[in-house]
Amino acid sequence: MDISSIENEGKYYCTYCSSKFSSKKILLFHMKTNKECINSIQKEKIGEQQDIESDYNKLLHKYKLLKKDIKEKEEKIRELQTELNSKKKRPYNNVVIACGKPLLLNEEIVYDRMKNNFKKGDILNDGQLALWFLKNICTNEEGKVCIQCTDLKRKVFKYIDDNDIIQVKTKDDIMMLITGCKNKIEDELNIKLKVSNKFVNKLSTLTYIERVS
Ligand SMILES: [Zn+2]
Repeated sequence: MDISSIENEGKYYCTYCSSKFSSKKILLFHMKTNKECINSIQKEKIGEQQDIESDYNKLLHKYKLLKKDIKEKEEKIRELQTELNSKKKRPYNNVVIACGKPLLLNEEIVYDRMKNNFKKGDILNDGQLALWFLKNICTNEEGKVCIQCTDLKRKVFKYIDDNDIIQVKTKDDIMMLITGCKNKIEDELNIKLKVSNKFVNKLSTLTYIERVS
């Protein structure tokens, strides 16, 4: 209800029925008592209320949509973060490793060391063999790790050979090397060595940890 803008040349007009009054007091009395004008005022109020409700519902709908959108995006962010973390660059990749003395990685060396280290009747599982490999083959006399896993995921081993050249061994190379020695030594010394993929997994973890720590 608005009566502030209806004063005109000393006359007061009702906004709802346009009746003319000589004073504001009479106009207000009219607005409070005239049935039709009361109805109009009521209708106006209801209309305003409906507008407010409609606006509210529109906003609420918008709010819910945005919230759902944010939730989905947050979920997406979490997925991406997990993916990012899994692909995080490993703190590597210079194989200017702590390799004091070049070390050859061939069957002859591995076999000789096995022969000198194992005794008749020894039984080693994958983990024990990996530990032995780390201490006796991957480590030089100074105790530095020379054969290092530089890519834990792909299980790539690197070492520096006699000519200071970086050599790359894959997990299959390591498996072949150790299996070859195992077959030879099992017959000769009657020892049992368990060699499976777990051996390489364990070895890569061990050398990788040695390298990054
Ligand atoms: Zn009126």
